[in-house]
Amino acid sequence: MQVQKITDNIFIANFLDKKRSIVNDAPQTVTITCIALPDQLIFVDCGVYSKAIMEFRKQMEEHFQRKTSYLLLTHIHWDHILAMKVFKDVDVVIAKRGITGLKRSYSGYLSTKERKERAKDYREEDSEIAEDIENADLFIPNITVKDELEIGEEERKIIFKVIGNHTAESAIVLIPGEKIMCTGDNLLVTYPQLTRTSYDTPEMYKTWENMDIDLFIPGHGNPVKKDYIQSVRLYYDSLISFLKTKIKQKISISKILKDEDLPKYFDIGSTNWSFSCRPEGNWLENEITRWHRFLKKKQ
Ligand SMILES: [Zn+2]
Repeated sequence: MQVQKITDNIFIANFLDKKRSIVNDAPQTVTITCIALPDQLIFVDCGVYSKAIMEFRKQMEEHFQRKTSYLLLTHIHWDHILAMKVFKDVDVVIAKRGITGLKRSYSGYLSTKERKERAKDYREEDSEIAEDIENADLFIPNITVKDELEIGEEERKIIFKVIGNHTAESAIVLIPGEKIMCTGDNLLVTYPQLTRTSYDTPEMYKTWENMDIDLFIPGHGNPVKKDYIQSVRLYYDSLISFLKTKIKQKISISKILKDEDLPKYFDIGSTNWSFSCRPEGNWLENEITRWHRFLKKKQ
C-alpha cells in the first residue's frame, strides 16, 4: 500500500506498488481517500484489500487522533466497495439510485457462490485478493443520498454529490475548503476513461474545469490537476467531431480505428494499460467503438 499526504487534512492510499494483476488490476489502482474534519475522519471508497485498508484506517486515526465517522462510496462497483466490512461500525453512504443495482450484484456476481468462483481466478497470482473476494462481508449502506449530503461545518464542510455518468449512481466528493474533488470513476488516470457515451460527458468535464478546484483525486491512479481534465475534455471534443465526419462519409469503424488521423488519446504511455484490459479487449478501442455507435444513431 502506498500512502500519500495530499494536504494537512487529506491522505490517499492505493496499491500501485503491488504486482499488477493480469486478471484485472482495478484493486491495485483504485484510490482510497481519507479526509480529516476537525472532529472526525471520513473515508472515500474502501477498495478490496481489507487488511491494508484496516491498517490505513488505524494509521489515520492515530495520526489525527480522531475517530472515523463515515465511509462514502462513489459507486457500487466491487473494486470500490469490497472491503466495506472494515467500516461496518460507521455510517456508510451511497447514492439512493445505487441500491437496486447493489442488491442485484449481491445476488449475482458478488454473491457468496460467484465470489468463490471468481476468487479462483486470482488465487495463483495474489492469494490475498482471492481471500478478500471470497470472504467479503457485503451489506447495504445505512445512509442513501438522493442528490447531495453535506458533512461538517462552514469552510471545512464536504459534499457528497450524486452526478451519474460512469454509472447512474456515481457520486463525487467535494472538499471546497481544500479545492479538491474525489471523482470516483468519472475520472481514470491509470487507463482511458469509462464514461457514458453521451454529450453529458464533455459537459461534465467542462463543468469541472469551471469549478474552483485545483486537484482531482481519480477513481484509479494518482491525483491530477485541471490541465488533465482539460486534456480529457479536448480528447472527447476532437474524437466526437472526427467520428461525426467519418460517419457522414460512411466510413466503417474498422477503417476508422486504423485511420492515421484518428485523434490520439493524450495520455498514451504514461501507464501500462495492458493490466486493465482483458486479453480480448482494448478499452480505448472499445470506447471509440461505443462513441461511434452512439453518434451514428444520433445522425
Ligand atoms: Zn473502479
